[in-house]
Amino acid sequence: MAYAPAHTFDSLPMGLDPEPDESVGSYCLRSLSAHGLGMHWLRKTLGLTYSAHPTQEHWVELAHLLQASPDWLRARLPSKLESSSSSWSYCGHDLRANCFLRFRHPQVCVSCVHLRGCCLALWDFSFVTACPFHKRLLIDHCSHCGKSLGWDRPAVDVCRCGRVLTSRGNISSSAACHAVGAAIAAHLRNERPTASLFSDVGMPSFLAELSLGGLMGVVLAFGEISKPNEWVAPSAIVRGHTTEQWAAIIDRAGDRLRQLDESHQQAADLSPVVSATLLRRVLRYSLSVSDLQVARLLYSRLFGPPFRRSSPIEGQLELFE
Ligand SMILES: [Zn+2]
Ligand SMILES: [Zn+2]
Repeated sequence: MAYAPAHTFDSLPMGLDPEPDESVGSYCLRSLSAHGLGMHWLRKTLGLTYSAHPTQEHWVELAHLLQASPDWLRARLPSKLESSSSSWSYCGHDLRANCFLRFRHPQVCVSCVHLRGCCLALWDFSFVTACPFHKRLLIDHCSHCGKSLGWDRPAVDVCRCGRVLTSRGNISSSAACHAVGAAIAAHLRNERPTASLFSDVGMPSFLAELSLGGLMGVVLAFGEISKPNEWVAPSAIVRGHTTEQWAAIIDRAGDRLRQLDESHQQAADLSPVVSATLLRRVLRYSLSVSDLQVARLLYSRLFGPPFRRSSPIEGQLELFE
């Protein structure tokens, strides 16, 4: 990456304090906006390509340029995991699919963004589709010009078209979307989601045992397919969706996961609408013994015994058997 060393450019005159739960995209946008600058200028200064998002390797330059807290930046900037180009570490969690994060396609709760004046790191997660406070879907498109939101907008609550972001109406969110969103919020607070979060909406309580990446992997495997026997392309792990499409994926996953508490026969009936490929991916990249155990249980109930694989945590599985 060819970017200018920190000493070749000056810091911006005003240093803003980040909010503890703010996203880096939001913080950069607020800092730039306060100086009449935009994300395009920042990318050019850092040597980033069009639409690229700052990562961990830019923390020194960003700390200097924005007069930002190095500790906050280092904790909040995402980094690519070396093992795979589609894997990220973000907010202390390993996520094995590009599609789990929305750095290039931000979404907001219109009410929160006006009230708080910033965007939350929580909204960077694709499976967070609803605001827990305002009980409606986040938006990722401008209701005026219809274009998708980007970070290259004039302010956190203003679209590229220059108009203030407004809601498209009260698109209410489902119980499954709220359960998954609340579980992700708990993980970001370094808390384990409570089992009742899922059981209260009829979903299996073992979802609370999964890592953040494991939870998203299982929800994707159960919700990606909309029609029986639909083929899931390898691009499913990188493909972005709109907020409404992600909400639909969570709703489908919620409906299908509820059926797991029924008989084995009904669980097997789910096999045409659950992606074996994506479930095997959870097995392959399981980050904890619970991830591995849950993925194996689900796979065997739907598709029969999973093939043997080597996993860094395979040896610990007997603890649970
Ligand atoms: Zn809100
Ligand atoms: Zn617009």
